[in-house]
Amino acid sequence: MAKRDCYEVLSVTRSATEVEITKAYRKLAMQHHPDRNVGDAEAEVRFKEVTEAYEILRDPQKRAVYDRHGHAGLSGAAGGGAPSDLGDLIGDLFGSFFGGGGGGGRRQRGGPRAGRDIQAILDIDLVEAATGVKKTQAVPREEFCGTCNGTGAKPGTKPVTCKRCGGQGAVLLNQGFISVQQTCRACEGRGVVITDPCASCRGHGRVESRRTLEVEIPAGVDTGNRIRYAGEGDAGDPGAPRGDLEFVIRVREHKFFHRDGHNLVCQWPVSISQAALGGPIEITTLTGQKVVHDLPRGTQTHEVIRVFGHGMPNPRGGRKGDLLVQVVVETPTNLTPEQEELLRKLAETTKTSVAGPRKGFFGKLKDLLGGEGNPTPDEK
Ligand SMILES: [Zn+2]
Ligand SMILES: [Zn+2]
Repeated sequence: MAKRDCYEVLSVTRSATEVEITKAYRKLAMQHHPDRNVGDAEAEVRFKEVTEAYEILRDPQKRAVYDRHGHAGLSGAAGGGAPSDLGDLIGDLFGSFFGGGGGGGRRQRGGPRAGRDIQAILDIDLVEAATGVKKTQAVPREEFCGTCNGTGAKPGTKPVTCKRCGGQGAVLLNQGFISVQQTCRACEGRGVVITDPCASCRGHGRVESRRTLEVEIPAGVDTGNRIRYAGEGDAGDPGAPRGDLEFVIRVREHKFFHRDGHNLVCQWPVSISQAALGGPIEITTLTGQKVVHDLPRGTQTHEVIRVFGHGMPNPRGGRKGDLLVQVVVETPTNLTPEQEELLRKLAETTKTSVAGPRKGFFGKLKDLLGGEGNPTPDEK
């Protein structure tokens, strides 16, 4: 079944403000809430539909993608817009960041509103996390609409003083003997209303744009670390400050080195003779350094040797972590005849029973044909 238009589901216009959308959602969610409509399958479907539409329209980034590409843009079917795999994560982060409230940035009554804070994911490699790195990163953010200079009013027109509150942004409600001050619903506290909305930004005053920043990532960062740039978030109303921009670091898994706090863990192959007799082994670290370490005599497979100071750096300074090398003793294959002979002698001295010499393909063929055939080099 094709999904219905989000604006239609919430019965709001395409230029509806966040406040209008939240209000419409609350009303409909209350009406169709499963607790109020026990056993009513249709109400449940409606409730889900309304909630889904609200999840999209309350989030400026998702709403912008939806406005451009519809549902397909958010499910990732159509290219462009926000990458869909990050969509959910960003959604989650926004949820916790803004306390899950439906509201926009910081608000003051009767004045211009500050821009929203933005969070963006920044993926780096483990090597980059170890050395520190500069990354050029483009982030979608809202800029003043060039057509209306951020006012939201069609060029040639101006926002007019709100009639309901007289430009105060708040109204006094008389409730019996008490007067209560309330944010003006007509202008959402701005004090002005737009009668002729700008066509470029639908009266929003801002349009989606991209900001490219060079992000300096210190050595030692880990997944979940944040780097904040004050005043680099979305534009606010004219005269109000921008929001902040925060990058959340995500470090990719390395195929050989695994991170454990400040330490790095890896496996390292050694030969049977190295393991038995001990001796120096050369280990390559995450950053490509060659480190020689003495392997003790009689090292068993899975034993761990600690190479001090070759783990991850500490981003706050101080001691680096260690490299924990788990030894894996490799069983030799493709032995030369001399090597095989030596191992057979070893087996004899330790009174270990071993399989007889391996027959090559021609040897097996000869067995099959009853002893006929030419002798082969690997058989004697
Ligand atoms: Zn505009
Ligand atoms: Zn007003």
